[in-house]
Amino acid sequence: MRYISTRGGVDPVTFSQAVMMGLATDGGLLLPESFPAIDQATLQRWAKLGFKELAIEVIWPYVGEDLTREELTDLVVRSYSTFDHPEVTPLVETGGRRILELFHGPTAAFKDVALQFLGNLFELLLERSGGHLNILGATSGDTGSAAIYGVRGQQRIDIFILHPYKRVSPIQERQMTTVLDANVHNIAIQGTFDDGQRIVKELFNDLTFKDEYTLGAVNSINWARILAQVVYYFYAWGRVTGGDTQQQVSFSVPTGNFGDIFAGYVAKRMGLPVNRLILATNRNDILSRFVNSGVYQLGDVQPTISPSMDIQISSNFERYLYYLMDQNPAKVKELMKQMATTGKLEVPEDKRREVESVFHAESVTEAETRAQITETYQKSGYILDPHTAVGVKAAANFPEAICLATAHPAKFGDAVKEAIGIEAPPPVSLQGLMEKETRCEILSADAGVIQDYIKSTLAKR
Ligand SMILES: *Cc1c(COP(=O)(O)O)cnc(C)c1O
Repeated sequence: MRYISTRGGVDPVTFSQAVMMGLATDGGLLLPESFPAIDQATLQRWAKLGFKELAIEVIWPYVGEDLTREELTDLVVRSYSTFDHPEVTPLVETGGRRILELFHGPTAAFKDVALQFLGNLFELLLERSGGHLNILGATSGDTGSAAIYGVRGQQRIDIFILHPYKRVSPIQERQMTTVLDANVHNIAIQGTFDDGQRIVKELFNDLTFKDEYTLGAVNSINWARILAQVVYYFYAWGRVTGGDTQQQVSFSVPTGNFGDIFAGYVAKRMGLPVNRLILATNRNDILSRFVNSGVYQLGDVQPTISPSMDIQISSNFERYLYYLMDQNPAKVKELMKQMATTGKLEVPEDKRREVESVFHAESVTEAETRAQITETYQKSGYILDPHTAVGVKAAANFPEAICLATAHPAKFGDAVKEAIGIEAPPPVSLQGLMEKETRCEILSADAGVIQDYIKSTLAKR
């Protein structure tokens, strides 16, 4: 399998090159040249597999000759042994709803599914090449800690994570800043998540800097992250249907950067019987407005009780745009240029209808989110975190949909308490965080300042 850029300016690269490249060198995003087609017999067989066995099957066709079957097996087993549930991503039925719990990893959010795998994959590839990698990423909360936990203590990796100062939940902040390993560098920037993302993009686009410092990404722009997330769509479908390929299911996905839901789109393209992908946003609704109007237009970021979705520029959206524009890089480039110059892009009506045939989008208000947490708790005793609640609310008209539970409710104690009067009991991974020692640098939201900090920090290592 080879990988290409959405903007057409990169000669096809291998899986390991795509993983190490992160963002494509032409400013686009990397995608596989084609999707492996999964036939019905294979789907039926996969439906019987446990999560780890299934992960090996789903990922295998994408790695080409870069990993042996044994290496992939070892990666998968190590990555998912850190989860506190034997099924890794269990599907629960509660109060008449299907919930796919993706939060059993070390940081209690779904990003662990991808980042435990990516961290181990990086390590393997670096050992092979004898190289060193400096990971740079921006987080709105959950990515940062999940990325840090993916690579903490590794010899061949330093990690720099930018989070918006005081705009992540106290627990999220602590999860990052209490990791004191020498290779972990937390930076709180005085700005928003979008500022962080912009700085990261700018530094990656400084090709001299990128090469000299071997910068790599862990944000959802890394193909390996999307790939790892494809697995649980197949897994959940198997649990619900028992492998009956006549049965389509819908998935409701609390969406920010479009990574998680794009993984669902990939699963659908591979042949998974998916009815609708329900794109659930909070009041930062650029994506739901796009699905419903065909116009993708920037607004201001508004803080909500589901902060990991407080995003306006969705970094993975360009990947979907590539398929929507019939895999024509020239059209993608044109639209992204429009976006860069006018803050807005628009697709024609026939394309908008195509979008609507795949996605159903809803934007959910803060009051609705709280009401959903309350309602689900009263009905079934099950506690939703605010992100998951956005997804459950958006799926109100799809009672059979599988709702992706993207964070453990104990991570967002205040919002949960406001809705139901109590906090969810924390998993072991979240206990005692507030008492631990922390380390973090507060810097202004300026690419030059961040670049200097990275250089001086690495000079001391
Ligand atoms: C990151 C995150 C999301 C959004 O996922 P995307 O892949 O960015 O769309 C939703 N919920 C939680 C809890 C998250 O951490």
